[in-house]
Amino acid sequence: MTNQNSRKSGSFTEQQIRPAELVKGQKIALLADIERLLTRREEFIAVPCPACKCEKSSSKYEKSGFNYEECESCQTIYVNPRPSPDILEWFYRDSENYTYWNKFIFPASEKVRRDKIFIPRVENVIKYCDKYNVNRDSILEVGAGFGTFCEVMQSMGVFRRIVGIEPTPDLAQTCRDKGIEVIESPVENVNFEADQLFDVVVNFEVIEHLFSPRDFVIQCKRLLTKNGLFVISCPNGQGFDIITLKKLSKTIDHEHLNYFTPQSLNSLLTDIGFEVLETLTPGRLDAELVRNEILEGHFNVSGQPFLKKVLIDEWDPLGSKFQQFISENLLSSNLWIIAQNKSEI
Ligand SMILES: [Zn+2]
Repeated sequence: MTNQNSRKSGSFTEQQIRPAELVKGQKIALLADIERLLTRREEFIAVPCPACKCEKSSSKYEKSGFNYEECESCQTIYVNPRPSPDILEWFYRDSENYTYWNKFIFPASEKVRRDKIFIPRVENVIKYCDKYNVNRDSILEVGAGFGTFCEVMQSMGVFRRIVGIEPTPDLAQTCRDKGIEVIESPVENVNFEADQLFDVVVNFEVIEHLFSPRDFVIQCKRLLTKNGLFVISCPNGQGFDIITLKKLSKTIDHEHLNYFTPQSLNSLLTDIGFEVLETLTPGRLDAELVRNEILEGHFNVSGQPFLKKVLIDEWDPLGSKFQQFISENLLSSNLWIIAQNKSEI
């Protein structure tokens, strides 16, 4: 949930959504989390590729005690071995990072996030409903987090019923405080009767955190009406800042177990019975993220004159055009897929 994400949202900066003075405290929380998660490393489970089930992979990076592999057939990058669903539940229940975000970073950056990220996000979901003739009666957000999406959606008055699923207790309480109908449970345990299914199911920056993305997508599909719309966003493992910075990228962390490519996530959804309608990478921050790592002295571009020219020497005239090129050509690290539930379960 800490990734860049926006659509047609105008400009904003990393500083606005992750204020530097708060990032220091967050780093401490993050390190405590990593240490706690690693106490259960012996219990981690080896898995095949989360997108295509291929068993063949090669080692990609090692970071903070976690091993990242790349699938030989679909190029999805994934943490292997990985924490089991039970360990993940135990981990997120008391995550210091999540508590810190809920207490400090979300409140401090909420206005910018609402204006630049959530309002455009909500408008886009409504736009896709209209474009594909999807009913606008009920919508479910899986991983409602701080509740901003549901809150903004409620204020639009477009859907009769808006529900959020949020398993983390502090965040679920924040949602309730905002007047959002929230189910405090992992999505796997959620069931609805046939007449209570949703016209739209959305999830933003959730799937990369999960032990089994396939099971998650199957479960989301079960909660959707026939022809219902599924909107998913997550990191693109082939995105500019991840390809460029490799494990230096902040997106590569212990919380993110899965880094799909536009193609591998397409295949996973199709395999499960969705029809993919659109694939986009609307991220706005890739170039700036790489630039910031250069300016902070973490990433050296002295041997890469092209990157030095675009990201440093001629940033003012070229930076935003370069970012636009990245976003428009499926090269950004923020991936969106819009799909429709075409098959019966
Ligand atoms: Zn694969």
